[in-house]
Amino acid sequence: MPNGPFEAGEAMTHHTCPVCGKSHAVTAARQSVAWGRRLTCSCTCEVERRRRVRRRLLGPHALRMHDKVH
Ligand SMILES: [Zn+2]
Repeated sequence: MPNGPFEAGEAMTHHTCPVCGKSHAVTAARQSVAWGRRLTCSCTCEVERRRRVRRRLLGPHALRMHDKVH
């Protein structure tokens, strides 16, 4: 078994960060709470990802809805 920076026996998978596109290792524990989504590589990217999701949800569609009211 190759010696790596990670604990032996911990199953590692690789995710591509949806924000910066960097390939990074994810532990089985984190993978299990990801629910099939791609995980970000750092807290900074996680904050950015959430901001993007919110912007997409409240994007042009929300503005159009607001216009209809008037
Ligand atoms: Zn990233």
